Amino acid sequence: SLTAGIVGLPNVGKSTLFNAITKAGALAANYPFATIDPNVGVVEVPDARLDKLTELVEPKKTVPTAFEFTDIAGIVKGASKGEGLGNKFLSHIREVDAICQVVRCFEDENITHVSGSVNPIDDIEVINLELILADMESVEKRLQRVGKMAKQKDKEALIEEPILVKLKDALEKEKPARSVDLSEDELKVIKGLHLLTIKPMLYVANVSEDEVADAANNPYVQQVREFADAEGAQVITICAKIEEEISELDDEEKAMFLEELGIEESGLDQLIRASYDLLGLATYFTAGVQEVRAWTFRKGMKAPQCAGVIHSDFERGFIRAETVAYEDLVEAGSMAAAKEAGKVRLEGKEYIVQDGDVMLFRFNV
Ligand code: GDP
Repeated sequence: SLTAGIVGLPNVGKSTLFNAITKAGALAANYPFATIDPNVGVVEVPDARLDKLTELVEPKKTVPTAFEFTDIAGIVKGASKGEGLGNKFLSHIREVDAICQVVRCFEDENITHVSGSVNPIDDIEVINLELILADMESVEKRLQRVGKMAKQKDKEALIEEPILVKLKDALEKEKPARSVDLSEDELKVIKGLHLLTIKPMLYVANVSEDEVADAANNPYVQQVREFADAEGAQVITICAKIEEEISELDDEEKAMFLEELGIEESGLDQLIRASYDLLGLATYFTAGVQEVRAWTFRKGMKAPQCAGVIHSDFERGFIRAETVAYEDLVEAGSMAAAKEAGKVRLEGKEYIVQDGDVMLFRFNV
């Protein structure tokens, strides 16, 4: 399954945030696949549509969908040269599908900052540079081999070489590989390189307790936002410490606490949804009287593949899917009414499932 990795310099609040994630996940006991890897935390994806469907269908049970965060500790300046945990750390990043970079935007005299003072842009640049240097090494190594093969008119090498040159040019200018405009086909050619800076990234600005309600006015947050905007990246503002406290509360207490703080939605919930989106994930629903449930699929997946998310038999024996858009179902008020209104479609093997589809799969066993 897909996972988002949490990275950041020491003392920026990664462990605090990850604790919040694992505690929130531990409360959600729905996941038999919950992993035993201490660096992986499973979180539920908050989705108001699921509550609404539960109201409509009144099932015995409601199950949200979930996905994983991986805690990647130990990046320091020089990691690409093997400092600190160095290469081990980088190899962990290779395994994740998207990167959430935690950036310290809180002042606290008692908590040492690795480079002496709080400076979010410097911090971001340290991390991003390590990733870029690691990629540069991969690209240069590959380019040496491919360059030789291209000289001998090797067909595949002739295709790959110019792509590598484009990447090298960008990396030399300290730009991430994801900033290079590559076609689907070109991306396939270089997939095997497992570049770090090709993964989508979002920034998590960690602010202090006192500033979280008015984080937009925090100058550090503004700097991060400006930097991220230039890259087309997203910024989520959280107070990791508060998230850790919230993660121990039940839903009702959580709502009260957030209201007291003047926050609309917990930062962790925002982070979960933004990461889900960054990973290219979407949700469809099944809505039976036994169980209303959210399921995760990759955007672009067709109906049989989506059925396979539930069970591989569903994919193999797929016949068709009775499908209604969430909005249409809610507007109609019930499945029967939606059918009467002609809003329930019979979709076949080629149907590309949409976020919010409510589906009933028909299949042969
Ligand atoms: P890591 O090294 O990035 O994993 O950082 P930690 O999560 O261990 O946090 C380092 C220190 O900063 C700890 O003492 C935390 O309690 C503190 N800390 C983390 N987040 C916040 C925050 O939002 N506000 C304040 N005041 N302190 C925080």
